[in-house]
Amino acid sequence: MRTLLIVGNWKMNKTASEAATFVRELSQHLSVISTGIELVVAPPFTALESVRQVLGSRSPIQLGAQDMFWEDYGAYTGEVSAPMLKDLGCRYVILGHSERRTLFGEQSDSIRKKIQAALKHGLRPILCIGESLVQRDNGSTDDVLTQQLHESLSGFTGEVVTGVTVAYEPIWAIGTGKSATTEQAVAAHRTIRQVLAATASPAIADCTRILYGGSVTPQNIESLLASDQVDGALIGGACLQVESFATIAKVASAARPIGV
Ligand code: PEP
Repeated sequence: MRTLLIVGNWKMNKTASEAATFVRELSQHLSVISTGIELVVAPPFTALESVRQVLGSRSPIQLGAQDMFWEDYGAYTGEVSAPMLKDLGCRYVILGHSERRTLFGEQSDSIRKKIQAALKHGLRPILCIGESLVQRDNGSTDDVLTQQLHESLSGFTGEVVTGVTVAYEPIWAIGTGKSATTEQAVAAHRTIRQVLAATASPAIADCTRILYGGSVTPQNIESLLASDQVDGALIGGACLQVESFATIAKVASAARPIGV
């Protein structure tokens, strides 16, 4: 059984005090939902501490980071390490987001090292992969996903792969308001699971969560989660308003009866 995971990627939005106000309100909205899902917010580094303080240790909302460096400490100006994120209460870390790849030149080799470092320190990496519009239009989506998975997970044992969550995020759907259809998402998730089965094992592929990300909204989340291939969502724009993120969480928590 794969527990649904809903992750809000705040990107470079909200100051520490805005973030504290936001999660206080979000917690009130969510106090009525029976969980059955995992819920994560990933604020900017500068707001992790204020969010942590508001959430406390008993909140159903968990903390995630948007990136990290692979070394533990040292002369790496501007970077943040896995032990630092752990110390701030992070449980998850998003790695290889397409904005990191396209705007900051991040390559699969760095992502691989970051995944390894995250797992070493008990952080759960969420590995983002996805094709561009040109790649989708020229029919190479499956090849792109396969290559990104191979490069990011190369040399890992099955045991290591077990700790990774994959987020399928077609680049053309991120922040565009144009979500993939459920059919497109399901087809991509099947490809990802097949690659995991071949590179790790069918059992590992079966228990790995694959999230969909790209213009998820309160309106389309239900249809995306209707397939048992979609194990949750990585959400950008719609996670920045309390109401829309809370609605997505509520729909997700009602999407699958506990135990299914
Ligand atoms: C994202 O940035 O991971 C994302 C999916 O953004 P949006 O929901 O805004 O498309």
